Amino acid sequence: MPDLSRLPADPRSAALGEPFFTPTAATPLPEPRLLHFNTALAEDLGLEGAPDQGLLAQLAGNAAVAGYPALAGVYAGHQFGQWVPRLGDGRALLIAEIRDRRGQHQELQLKGAGPTPYSRFGDGRAVLRSSVREYLASEAMHALGVPTTRALSLVGSPLPVQRETRETAAIVCRVAPSFLRFGHLEYFYYRDQPEALRRLADHLLQLHHPELLERPQPYAAWLAAVVDATAALMAQWQALGFCHGVMNTDNMSLLGLTLDYGPFGFQDGFAAGHICNHSDEGGRYAYDQQPQVAHWNLSRLLQASLPLLHEDGEAAVELATGILNRYPPAYTGAMMNRWRAKFGWQDAHHGDRELINRFLNLLDREQADFTRAFRALAALHAEGGEQALRAEIHDHAGLDAWLGDYRARLRAEQSEDAARAARLNAVNPLYVLRNHLAQDAITALEQGHSGPLERLFARLQRPYEAQPGGEADAQAPVRGTPALAISCSS
Ligand code: AMP
Ligand code: MG
Repeated sequence: MPDLSRLPADPRSAALGEPFFTPTAATPLPEPRLLHFNTALAEDLGLEGAPDQGLLAQLAGNAAVAGYPALAGVYAGHQFGQWVPRLGDGRALLIAEIRDRRGQHQELQLKGAGPTPYSRFGDGRAVLRSSVREYLASEAMHALGVPTTRALSLVGSPLPVQRETRETAAIVCRVAPSFLRFGHLEYFYYRDQPEALRRLADHLLQLHHPELLERPQPYAAWLAAVVDATAALMAQWQALGFCHGVMNTDNMSLLGLTLDYGPFGFQDGFAAGHICNHSDEGGRYAYDQQPQVAHWNLSRLLQASLPLLHEDGEAAVELATGILNRYPPAYTGAMMNRWRAKFGWQDAHHGDRELINRFLNLLDREQADFTRAFRALAALHAEGGEQALRAEIHDHAGLDAWLGDYRARLRAEQSEDAARAARLNAVNPLYVLRNHLAQDAITALEQGHSGPLERLFARLQRPYEAQPGGEADAQAPVRGTPALAISCSS
């Protein structure tokens, strides 16, 4: 029988204790129902057997994991640029820390398990709608090859939860090697607690970067690794048309994971300035802002890390500046590699950037579908194969001009059609978690049907592979249907 209590315990975050983590019991969830269970992840974690009532009780917050006090952590953050001195796990509880089948440390968190000391005005709950979105998105991103927190289970309940309307509660069990955020370090920096800062950094170094402990300046090496991981993550988001929606520093992972899925969205009709979060009126977190927002967030992280870098203030600033300055070339390098792969180019040519921008401009001008347009590139060959692309981009004169230059570019590196098509189909997905697909699964669940959720979950496990019966899931939303308004409400 699967039981989280039986997995090899590895309570490294719990060992940090106060003031980092506060024991907090989950609030029981009435009439829990297991709406989805991620069997593949469960196996990787070492959970054997089909989920039963005992496991469901643990995943609902109704039964504790033996020997582990559920914990809520404290952090702070910059939200929409404004400093907020105290946030924390307002509705997330760490319920277990284990070593998985490969010996890797993993933490399990219930999101929506009731109030904690950090709930402020919130009820500690999460609604079914946002839980389904987080559950699906976590695993879709993982299957796309993007670093992300994972999702083990989705539990629903008839418990009413008031948002703009009355909804019902759900709990996602999230899994990650660490849920620590930029905001964790910010909290202790602004409270002038450098020894606490150091304990957090040591914890991360020992657990996740032991090789850096040998370096002459382990903290500097670690922060450089965070900068590089964040740059690489931004390049992956941009290359998939993924918009996070709430890139506050408290939603930025110190491991470079995609974290806290809220009003996120994948681009359908492409707009460089697309704002996926209905509550983001100024467009601070628009698609084309994400890379520079990450840079700014890293500047906040480095500010908070100054006491780690040097006891002399000026020397610390100099070191921090050097580390932060890694970001622009790291991002640009990673991004150019991603774009080149998306166009099927194997080497770098002068003029690539212009060709990339011209293609994106073609999409942007008529809001052509981002995912479908890139997927259509694989059908092109030396003599033809433009139909799929022409169906997505209607400015045929503009497209033909671009195609002439694109084909010349392919000839210049003696690109071979079949091999290129295979490479392209391995980086340009056919299926992404479009908002309307997630919404269909949510609506069906609200009516008691889990079939659409199961179908979509399975589909998104293999996003690069054409699947029988998958046509509808590869379609753009019908033109003219109003876009779903996705806000921070969750
Ligand atoms: P988010 O915008 O989801 O990243 O949340 C920002 C902060 O508000 C975090 O500290 C959350 O834990 C907290 N929070 C969000 N929703 C709730 C809720 N319903 N109950 C308690 N805390 C919440
Ligand atoms: Mg958050």
